[in-house]
Amino acid sequence: MARIIVVGAGMAGLAAAARLATRDNSVLVCEATDTVGGALGSWRYDDDLVFDTGAYTLTLPAAYRDLFIKTGSRKKSAAATLEDRLDLRPIDPVRRYLFPEGSRLDLPNASRGRLVAAFDEALGAGAGAAWLRVVDHGSQVWDAIRPALIEAPGAGGRELVRLLRTTAGRRALTPLRSLRQLASGWFATPGLFLLLDDYARQAGADDPRRAPAALAARVYLEQAFGAWRIVGGMHTLAEELGQRVLDRGAEIRYGARVERIERSASGAASGVVLEGGERIAADVVVAGVDQAVLARLLGGSAREHSYSAAVTTMCLVVDQADAPTMPHETVLLAENGPAMRVHVAAEQPSAWTVHIPATSDQQPEFDEVLGLLAARGIDVRGKARVAHTIGAADRAAATGVPGGAAYGPAVNSLRSALLRSPVRQPVSGLFHVGASARPGSGLSFTALSGWHAAELIRPRR
Ligand SMILES: Cc1cc2nc3c(=O)[nH]c(=O)nc-3n(C[C@H](O)[C@H](O)[C@H](O)COP(=O)(O)OP(=O)(O)OC[C@H]3O[C@@H](n4cnc5c(N)ncnc54)[C@H](O)[C@@H]3O)c2cc1C
Repeated sequence: MARIIVVGAGMAGLAAAARLATRDNSVLVCEATDTVGGALGSWRYDDDLVFDTGAYTLTLPAAYRDLFIKTGSRKKSAAATLEDRLDLRPIDPVRRYLFPEGSRLDLPNASRGRLVAAFDEALGAGAGAAWLRVVDHGSQVWDAIRPALIEAPGAGGRELVRLLRTTAGRRALTPLRSLRQLASGWFATPGLFLLLDDYARQAGADDPRRAPAALAARVYLEQAFGAWRIVGGMHTLAEELGQRVLDRGAEIRYGARVERIERSASGAASGVVLEGGERIAADVVVAGVDQAVLARLLGGSAREHSYSAAVTTMCLVVDQADAPTMPHETVLLAENGPAMRVHVAAEQPSAWTVHIPATSDQQPEFDEVLGLLAARGIDVRGKARVAHTIGAADRAAATGVPGGAAYGPAVNSLRSALLRSPVRQPVSGLFHVGASARPGSGLSFTALSGWHAAELIRPRR
């Protein structure tokens, strides 16, 4: 039995902890705040309304299905699967896009036929077929990277080079082409580029002009495996996973901010030191924190990385009398720059979470936000009040992610998309999971990084 410390109870740390505890290790999760979920985030208002303040759409739920099955109780009667624990529903439409010139697209969930019809209606004949070219290219990318890099714990630069030596790999990954270059031969309408840029930004591109063509895989994943929500809110996924960690015998200590990762005389990770000075010894340390935090915990300074965009999040309570009926997500696409997003869960129509592109020195005003919504036909002036605001600086302080970036380090090349910080770190006994580690950001990929760590830590038989 190994003594394992997991730093951080975000989705990656919890996923690693649940799997490692299931294998009879002694697992302690040290979490700086007083709750699980990290960037997933939630905020409770008046006991009645709970706002999801971070992630709102689950793609590739198989990552969590596998996690819940593999960490379930051995007793057959135990209701252990993801669907036993949570009410997962496909979202349809996945989201509503509002284009600057006034057209509107309701993106259907996982249906090629309906997708073509919706695109043609919103953006003109041929738009649907053009978008399917991106989806199909994304399918090729996924086929190439899934076995070689995504479902291959420990894979890295060598595997990527090997993949790029094959004709199929080069054709799929088109290493020198940007996503925009890839699509330029297919797209005849500017609206499609706005949509593509939005996917790129959601996948972590700080500048969509440099986003690698391989990000088409994200478009494909959503179309192929669907977009899902959880009744009761996304935060319940973190709560269930936190409970699973406890059920498997691990411990979660809240208010336990790790200040340093200790090293033995041989240089291997040997434990952590908490704020306040308490030392806890371990055989293995799994860092479920951003790479900049990890660098600091190791006593170094973080290498300069650019990061994906940050958002300011406003939780609005909207009076329902004459209020517009909102879909799960509405995206207000902008001509130059990131979109504003509004998230409304079907069961809580008066709780709106609005994400506004922002940096720590540009806190948007409430009236300005209502004005921007009204200008796009969503007029809740006089009906809405702001109940809570989370700025980029608040997010940075809570998670340690530089600038409060929503999607971790920026993705502006094939390398930065596929070769994030390695799960097996150069320091013996140290593993890195989460949005800045491989295979990447987002709820499902961070859960996969937890699986990578558990596989690499598994004792060799
Ligand atoms: C506004 C927003 C919207 C998003 N929307 C989506 C979406 O729709 N779909 C999707 O899939 N993804 C979405 N994401 C991304 C997704 O939420 C993240 O990629 C994922 O939650 C990151 O998880 P993580 O475990 O890597 O890191 P984090 O969630 O950042 O967790 C790190 C944890 O470590 C703790 N910690 C930090 N430092 C220390 C320390 N020194 N000691 C102890 N604990 C520490 C933190 O408190 C935190 O709990 C969104 C993110 C944001 C911010």
